[in-house]
Amino acid sequence: MNKNELYFCPLGGSGEIGMNMNLYAYGNESNKKWIIVDMGVSFADDSVPGIDLIIPDAGFIIDKKDDLLGIVLTHAHEDHIGSVAHIWPSLKCKIYATPFTAALLVEKFKEKKIDVTNYLNVVPLNSKIKLGNFEIDFITLTHSILEPNGLSIKTPLGTILHTGDWKIDPNPLIGSRIDEEKLKKIGNDGVSAMICDSTNIFSPGRAGSESQVRDSLLRIMEIKTKRILVTSFASNVARMETIFYCAKKTGRNICLVGRSMQRIYKAAKKCGYLKDLIEPLEPKDAKKVSKNKILYLATGSQGEPMGAMNRIINGIHPEVFLEEGDCVIFSSKIIPGNEKKLYHLQNLIVKNKMEIISEENAFVHVSGHPNRDDLKDMYKWVKPKCIIPVHGEHRHMVEHVSFAKEMQVPKTLLIENGDIIKILPGNNPQIVDKAPSGKIYLDGNINVNTESQSIKDRKNLSINGYLEITLIFANNGKIKKPIISYKGIPESEQSEPLVFDMEDEILNICRTFSVENKRQQKNLIETIKQNCRRIVKEKTGKKPFTNINIARI
Ligand SMILES: [Zn+2]
Ligand SMILES: [Zn+2]
Repeated sequence: MNKNELYFCPLGGSGEIGMNMNLYAYGNESNKKWIIVDMGVSFADDSVPGIDLIIPDAGFIIDKKDDLLGIVLTHAHEDHIGSVAHIWPSLKCKIYATPFTAALLVEKFKEKKIDVTNYLNVVPLNSKIKLGNFEIDFITLTHSILEPNGLSIKTPLGTILHTGDWKIDPNPLIGSRIDEEKLKKIGNDGVSAMICDSTNIFSPGRAGSESQVRDSLLRIMEIKTKRILVTSFASNVARMETIFYCAKKTGRNICLVGRSMQRIYKAAKKCGYLKDLIEPLEPKDAKKVSKNKILYLATGSQGEPMGAMNRIINGIHPEVFLEEGDCVIFSSKIIPGNEKKLYHLQNLIVKNKMEIISEENAFVHVSGHPNRDDLKDMYKWVKPKCIIPVHGEHRHMVEHVSFAKEMQVPKTLLIENGDIIKILPGNNPQIVDKAPSGKIYLDGNINVNTESQSIKDRKNLSINGYLEITLIFANNGKIKKPIISYKGIPESEQSEPLVFDMEDEILNICRTFSVENKRQQKNLIETIKQNCRRIVKEKTGKKPFTNINIARI
């Protein structure tokens, strides 16, 4: 009959690391209400020229926006909140987030000139909200950002624990430790399914603690006598506080470099964090301080071309410079895909005779995601009837399923983006349907799909170059000299310029074609296009993107 059911459906983040977006639905065929948990971005690689950001295709939930109760955000990492400001205008629903996440979200909306205050509900830490039949309990966990929340999602049919990103950090430095007792209590009350982070499933042992990194960084910095520059993820506020702590302990001034570092510092302060720290110096003042009295904390740990690190090392940063003997500490991990950029930067650093300290030669970073022993503890506390891995590529999620089986979790379910999973009623969560899902590229200000002509054209142009030919015909039907221009086509100094060959060819062709009617004109354009491309191909090996214009005077 028309009974209530509980569904889960990931639209992003299950099958990739990035652009997390999850849906939950409760109700029956005639009345089903939805919530969204997180809406993140991922970052494009060089295979799509001109594209930086990728957002999940939210069309499926946009169609149901009248039955949408709200967006609930777990934490402020880009892969969880980065696409809210892009997708929200099509939803115009309420948003729920804890203070720090809300503060960063407001700034994202401001960049898009949207006032979201009437829609944004700031949720106090460790409190509850009620959205229709969903009773959502925010549980502060530990991760690599302030205020990481797991969500206990309680419905009349049963409870789901959506972990968000987490690890077990016994001493996270800022914020409290994981509330083991609360998780155990939720477990004792019964958890039908745990939707769980898979990022570090291949890593044995434990993720480690921010406090261990602090001790290690201090030992490293204590013996340095010249400038120190630390680069790390701006969003890791505990790490930021550690660098302030090390500066104070080693008698150095601190200077924050890079826009996102300043932005996060201000947002954290505004939310009541980072109290009792030394005042950071402005870069213009920091450069007047002697070498052994300054510690820089900069963005750009992935070797991003426009990041502060890259500009400093290439000597084009207006205020910050380093020199021989200075020490650069990468207190971060390499995000897969960034290796080339990052090693290029590190090669420049060592060529300039500076010292590099990184994860590869010292203990300067811990991950924010659960290693296998952390997962084991979480399973033990929560005792879920079923584990559904998310937040991973397929290889992570497959491994997570086998690990959960090994740990005697009664049920597991391997899913991917778009799967609609019926979780309750019953004891056997199952994929019952498929929702449309996919990626949308942000191309400038425009959302385009992955098959977009603009991207295909740009790829083609960037590989093959561009050739444009304009034919001007006089009244009597005679062609004047064609105008030929091109970009991105290599030319050999020994051979004749390409234009000569093409001009001869075009004039020859025009002699044999008449341009009286549309059809003839089309044939002429096609023949010129083919023959000119052939000439360029023969001479240079490139087959350019070619455009022919016809004008009459
Ligand atoms: Zn994440
Ligand atoms: Zn995260």
